[in-house]
Amino acid sequence: MTMVVGLTGGIGSGKTTVADLFAQFNIDIIDADIVAREVVEPGTPGLNAIIDKLGSDILLTDGSLNRSKLRQAIFNDNSLKDWLNALLHPMIREKMQADIQKAKSPYCLLVIPLMVENNLQTMTDRLLVIDVDEEVQIARTQQRDKVNAEHVKKILAAQASREERLAAADDVITNNGDSAALQSEVATLHQQYVAMSLHNQ
Ligand code: ADP
Repeated sequence: MTMVVGLTGGIGSGKTTVADLFAQFNIDIIDADIVAREVVEPGTPGLNAIIDKLGSDILLTDGSLNRSKLRQAIFNDNSLKDWLNALLHPMIREKMQADIQKAKSPYCLLVIPLMVENNLQTMTDRLLVIDVDEEVQIARTQQRDKVNAEHVKKILAAQASREERLAAADDVITNNGDSAALQSEVATLHQQYVAMSLHNQ
């Protein structure tokens, strides 16, 4: 089976940027955020279960899930959040596993923002962590999302710490530099992963 490299890091650490760089080498990317949307597309068992629970008021007029309404409902009700996680997490894991089976590149990249928090590194053969200084992380997230520093700090506090992530890492990209530095780190890792995947065949 294709070797699975997990990619994780905190908000604004550069996961999307790094995944795009690996994609330039034609590496198949499986992104948990995208899969999480796929399992609640119209007609899926996931969305049907949500409609059964919350009624069709939870839909937009085009029949798709009203995400901001669901976020609001969860915000006000912890047991609903638990119910939703119990419903969707296994579906997301199953879909990611199916996508891994379909991967054609020498290795594939499994991008999961909350990998360490949810102990999903068990789905990977190797874990690549993007580490970044907190001040850089806050500045980049602020610029990208047009939010203030306090908002970003709250999100950081709810995520795993840098130390927790680094303790789980096999490989680390330090993303404090410019995009040229990042590009060269990814190119080096890509070579290593191709060599490892050949070795493991
Ligand atoms: P994540 O997916 O981990 O939340 P992103 O890849 O979206 O993070 O990166 C956060 C922001 O920082 C984006 O606007 C991205 O363009 C920018 N960024 C990422 N890496 C670098 C870098 N090395 N130099 C400059 N900007 C960067």
